Amino acid sequence: MRIVLVGPPKNLEIPHISTGDLFRANISQGTPLGREAKSYMDAGNLVPDSVTIAMAEDRMEQADAANGFLLDGFPRNLGQAKALDEYLKDKHLTLDAVLDLEVPEDEVVKRIAGRRICRNDSSHVFHAEYNKPKAEGVCDTCGGELYQRDDDREETVRKRLEVYHTETEPIIDYYKAQDLVVTIPAMGKVDEVTKRSMAALPSRDA
Ligand code: ADP
Repeated sequence: MRIVLVGPPKNLEIPHISTGDLFRANISQGTPLGREAKSYMDAGNLVPDSVTIAMAEDRMEQADAANGFLLDGFPRNLGQAKALDEYLKDKHLTLDAVLDLEVPEDEVVKRIAGRRICRNDSSHVFHAEYNKPKAEGVCDTCGGELYQRDDDREETVRKRLEVYHTETEPIIDYYKAQDLVVTIPAMGKVDEVTKRSMAALPSRDA
């Protein structure tokens, strides 16, 4: 099963590939790729396609992705979507679904600006209002330190939303033309949205 997520994954036995997480790992390891990506990310802009596409393809090549993957945050513009199509076509693969999680813009800002992430594991995610950790600043799961991403501050979030509208939104029509888009109302709790998303996915094997 190959899925593109245009928002949170769980329960599928396929790796979750987040280009944002891959960039942040490169930044914390101080790699040349991380150094290049950082200035774009801090400004709320997209990292150039040349590096992004290569990084995503590299990740899809890894053994754990042989039976499928869930792409989170990639593709994020038409150039990336077309590159992904080419990449898959070369391998005689196709996407199964593109999940479009619909959330009012005010809610997006609230969700992102309140997000707190564990330094040990970026999948340990909390929220200052909706999902408070038991002890402030401490991860319930592993005791790691919780922090707010630099680009999750409100003014950068507004810029990211602008970029979303101009660059990312057009890929929804692109995938509608391929009849792949599954629209999910994404208000409500994480578990509920996950349930809705799972129920809406086409039932197809890897
Ligand atoms: P979120 O999960 O909050 O939507 P991400 O972690 O996916 O945010 O992305 C954070 C930043 O990383 C983006 O604002 C952008 O600068 C960069 N980034 C992530 N994925 C891509 C991509 N596919 N193309 C270009 N830049 C990307």
